[in-house]
Amino acid sequence: MSTMLNAISFPGRYCQGKGLLRQIGKWVAVCGKKPVVLWEPFLKDALGAMVSGSFQEHGLTFHDVLFKGETTRAAAQALVAAIKDGGCDVVVGLGGGKAIDTAKAAAALSGARCVIVPTIASNDAPTSACTVWYNDAGDYEGFNMWRFNPDLILVDTEVIARAPVRFLVAGMGDALATWPEASAAYSSRAVSTAGGTQTLTAMAMARLCFDTILRHGLEAREAVARGVVTPAVEKVVEANILLSGVGWESGGLATAHAIANSLPAIHETHGLLHGEKVAFGLMTQLCLEQDWPVEEIYRIVDFLNAVGLPTTFAAMKMQDVSKERLLEFARSVSGEGSFVHNHAFPVAPENIVDAMVAADSLGQRRMNKPAGSPA
Ligand SMILES: [Zn+2]
Repeated sequence: MSTMLNAISFPGRYCQGKGLLRQIGKWVAVCGKKPVVLWEPFLKDALGAMVSGSFQEHGLTFHDVLFKGETTRAAAQALVAAIKDGGCDVVVGLGGGKAIDTAKAAAALSGARCVIVPTIASNDAPTSACTVWYNDAGDYEGFNMWRFNPDLILVDTEVIARAPVRFLVAGMGDALATWPEASAAYSSRAVSTAGGTQTLTAMAMARLCFDTILRHGLEAREAVARGVVTPAVEKVVEANILLSGVGWESGGLATAHAIANSLPAIHETHGLLHGEKVAFGLMTQLCLEQDWPVEEIYRIVDFLNAVGLPTTFAAMKMQDVSKERLLEFARSVSGEGSFVHNHAFPVAPENIVDAMVAADSLGQRRMNKPAGSPA
């Protein structure tokens, strides 16, 4: 007889606020004495003076390694070497998802502490214990789940608000799917990457994520488009990074991410961000679901359209993809162990193609709905 195990995993500490990066030295000093920072050259140019000033203020001398842009095993090993050579005890991964994933890997492999400073809020990399690997050409090469989540996440909302608004919006796509995916995974009692079935806490965080994005997403987008930080921005950034991060890792995934993670097979979609692909994956999942009320589905589609996330084949640059290619894609999405099987009902490749076509049609229809029409 097997026992049911519920599991949830968290980062050690999460701090968020406007101008927080000016205090980075104070927070990193809690974790270690000798930091090494991994960042891209453009971020070093933009934020280097502020970061080194704060380290100096708190008596920390630091090394740094320039990130070349891809999460390769070689990049992680180079960072491990820098940690050992410099006698460093804490890794600071500063930047987007790929730099963050590399820093998490080097911390896990070297035993150093891990501080994550996301400069955009476009994906779920900051809080999770996961690294997704690529080769130098940018092709997917598997992933690792590390023993622990990062020790500390520092989110400066001023930095996030200065990044192009497209990143925040993509993060909302990734975040909005968290609850529909976690509820699907819960309905089938699918084991999440945290190592068990869903805790009440993870489900509550996933639901709060969903409600926060729908309620404040549009306002946050308007603010960040103008480079300002408002209470709506603070709420949406917390949802995009913390609630969505813990929500997917400990709630579980379903069709939305199965689609998004496989879309590299359709080369037309290469220019799209992860969260944009998840948005269309969510559309597909909603057209596959058997129990979601139609009003609730319309609410989600209308939100995606309002913030400018892709809801149609045209927006996904997939308008010329034939039915045969869609079916081939759907077969690649629905192999054994795929997240599409985390639903309470069976999902076949033909169901996925039908749902994608239905999603495209739904996205168009809601875009063209007459002004003031109900729901
Ligand atoms: Zn995601």
